[in-house]
Amino acid sequence: MSRVYNFSAGPSMMPEWVLKKASNEMLEYGATGQSVMEMSHRSKEYEAIIRSCESLLRELMNIPDNYKVLFLQGGASSQFAMIPLNLMTKNHKADYVTTGQWSKKAMAEAKRYGTVNEVASSADKTFSYIPDVDAMKFDPEADYVHITLNNTIYGTKWPKLPETGNVPLVADISSMALSEPLDVSKFGVLYAGAQKNMGPAGLTVVIIREDLIGEPQEGTPTMFQYKIHADNGSMYNTPPTYSIYMCGLVCQWLKEEIGGLENMKKINEEKAAILYDFLDHSKLFKGTVEPGSRSLMNVPFVTGDEELDKKFVAESKAAGFVNLKGHRTVGGMRASIYNAMPVEGVKALVAFMKKFEEENA
Ligand code: PMP
Repeated sequence: MSRVYNFSAGPSMMPEWVLKKASNEMLEYGATGQSVMEMSHRSKEYEAIIRSCESLLRELMNIPDNYKVLFLQGGASSQFAMIPLNLMTKNHKADYVTTGQWSKKAMAEAKRYGTVNEVASSADKTFSYIPDVDAMKFDPEADYVHITLNNTIYGTKWPKLPETGNVPLVADISSMALSEPLDVSKFGVLYAGAQKNMGPAGLTVVIIREDLIGEPQEGTPTMFQYKIHADNGSMYNTPPTYSIYMCGLVCQWLKEEIGGLENMKKINEEKAAILYDFLDHSKLFKGTVEPGSRSLMNVPFVTGDEELDKKFVAESKAAGFVNLKGHRTVGGMRASIYNAMPVEGVKALVAFMKKFEEENA
């Protein structure tokens, strides 16, 4: 067997420990005589799986008791609508900061349900930086402030959180969930599509402060109401059972093999430093993000020559480094180095880039 180093932005690499454990439990989970995939979501065996996933997540992320953890479907993209439908209920307005395609999409969706104010944007320089956080002025009457904490496509991360006073801060953490500790109490809502750091696609995790779970806007479809999912322990309908089980295994790996999110952060910083250091000194490759806004998870880079970029993507793929092509809207390359990418994977990539540089500079 030869597994490639997969630099995909998502779905992405899973820890081998998790895949092996899932594979061992595939045909018979414990003494149940069945696969987790085949279980009724109402069975006591499955109840134990989903509750264990939740309690591990709470432990790892240090989630306060006054927050609910919801296991939903529909991807992070459904949250673009669920957030305004459930939160734009007092003054029917919200503040958004535009730092890339995903925050743009989130804002466009919110405009369907209320008044949206764009507080800041980094569109002027192709989203290669996070706008000055201290200079942002938020509306104290807004129902919430929405940000995308890590921007998957452009490879930026907020260097610090904005000060929003009493206005709840809502953050899309799809591409950085579980990559480092976060102070959950600073947020009203955190949400993530699981398919990068948390598990397979199909699961969307929402962490929401209880007082924000109220009556949604009139006409909100039942499945788009936080209250319905919170009141039913994410079991109003069939949840994405297998993805939740896998998310539980990822949490177990983080706790037992990595030793928690502080340790995960150190490893992620080490990986990112190897790559950024190389990019900062390379004669051929160049990172596209301003140093103060760099993501630990997604690292976009270019050679400055589209043909050479294509050649690099093709040759790296042949050498076992897959999915390094940048997002279709920006071109160039992007290495997504999520939790499951081992340090050796990044070192091997840099060695390959050095060789490519020598041959092509
Ligand atoms: N937000 C961010 C930051 C993302 O990276 C993505 C997907 N790559 C999305 C939202 C959309 O997620 P989904 O495909 O789960 O709807």
